[in-house]
Amino acid sequence: MRRDDEAAAESLAELSKFFRSHPVTGPAGHSYIASEARPTRVHAGAPANLTVVDHIDATVAELADYTRQANPEAGTLPPRVEAVYEWCAENTKNAPQDVQQRRDTIVYRQHLEHAIAMGDTKVVRPIRCPACRTLGLFWKREISRAICTNARCLTKDGLSHRWTLARLAHAQIEDRQKSVRVRAT
Ligand SMILES: [Zn+2]
Repeated sequence: MRRDDEAAAESLAELSKFFRSHPVTGPAGHSYIASEARPTRVHAGAPANLTVVDHIDATVAELADYTRQANPEAGTLPPRVEAVYEWCAENTKNAPQDVQQRRDTIVYRQHLEHAIAMGDTKVVRPIRCPACRTLGLFWKREISRAICTNARCLTKDGLSHRWTLARLAHAQIEDRQKSVRVRAT
């Protein structure tokens, strides 16, 4: 299986390639790619692209914040946006277990976010519902939540369970952590 950070880096690379090939002229400065030549071409899809830029910015900022908190010695960010995952992993590889688990959760959540940003909503399908443990999550764009389609899996108000990507990532990484511990004993 592909590692989450590789998958996340790959989709972030795709996103930033998308951004670069669809230049934006919006007023928002791009803090991360700012060192590169400023695009001047006006593109019809600018509003959507600004969302992509915001998404990339937020991704990098979150990882940078996490990494510098975990390791104040972490140096400057790498020049290529997708290399931020490697940079983060390298600078936190000796961090305590819980700090590394937090990183894995962020990376996994970002991997899901990148996929959904590119329209790949099927990315939630292989994840088990944290409540009923079955497969069958369905992404609902309008509410930005994954809904459990198991008819018997309901909240106490009789509604389908709805999960944020953060909650799913947290559950997924917890599960993996547990299975690692089981294998180790
Ligand atoms: Zn469920």
